[in-house]
Amino acid sequence: MLGKSPSWQDAGGACSGYLVEDGETCLLVDCGSGVLSELRKHRDYVDVDAVVISHMHADHCFDLIPYANALTYAPRQQPVPVERWAGTENPARPHLLLPPGGSDVLRTITAAVGQDELIQNAFRTREYDPAENEQAGSLRLRFQPVPHYTPTNAIEVTSSEGGGRFTYGADHRPTDALCGFADATDLLILEATLPRPERGEERGHITPGEAGEHAARCDAARLVLTHISDELDWEWAKAEAQRAYSGPVEVALPGNVYTV
Ligand SMILES: [Zn+2]
Ligand SMILES: [Zn+2]
Repeated sequence: MLGKSPSWQDAGGACSGYLVEDGETCLLVDCGSGVLSELRKHRDYVDVDAVVISHMHADHCFDLIPYANALTYAPRQQPVPVERWAGTENPARPHLLLPPGGSDVLRTITAAVGQDELIQNAFRTREYDPAENEQAGSLRLRFQPVPHYTPTNAIEVTSSEGGGRFTYGADHRPTDALCGFADATDLLILEATLPRPERGEERGHITPGEAGEHAARCDAARLVLTHISDELDWEWAKAEAQRAYSGPVEVALPGNVYTV
């Protein structure tokens, strides 16, 4: 768990970012604002095999920009020796899996500041089809579109080496879409953004109580609440989720490690 803030960062925190490690494979799920700094506490950014993005909101993808700058400008990525870095003809270029349309979104943002191909040159960039599975090293990815303000996908990660299932709901309003997709998953990470449901507007997020209801309907083995501000009481959030869900509930904290 690298970051769990909603669309504005906690004090000293980061937005959505989840590091999945399986043997030699290292996958980053979402790369929101502040995530690169958190990632660097745990893993060298050149050793990440792939980054997968659930949707193109800033709190889920904006640290792709500093990440791409690092891959482009860091001394060790250059072809000639610089200071203590030996120089390389093969700079790291992690895979970047974007939702459909994601490449154009990033290109529009970076082009506005004169860096048209920043992302595409730094990463091996591709858009995934949510109807198809993807493979990143030993990890298999499945996707499930969920209803939000922009096209958004829940993501399931499993290992071809065995072990359990990790399901990340991304951002969504109350939905049945997760029920089959996350049925009996081993670790369900759901957003718990709202202190109360949105009133008089299109819904886009859920409350901790609704996260508990979703976990119960999915019959998940374990629930972790994320995308929740430090301006909400985490004990209250946990108690709300436990009203509907009888399994173990935690509120995500940066640095937490979950084994499936
Ligand atoms: Zn969002
Ligand atoms: Zn979000």
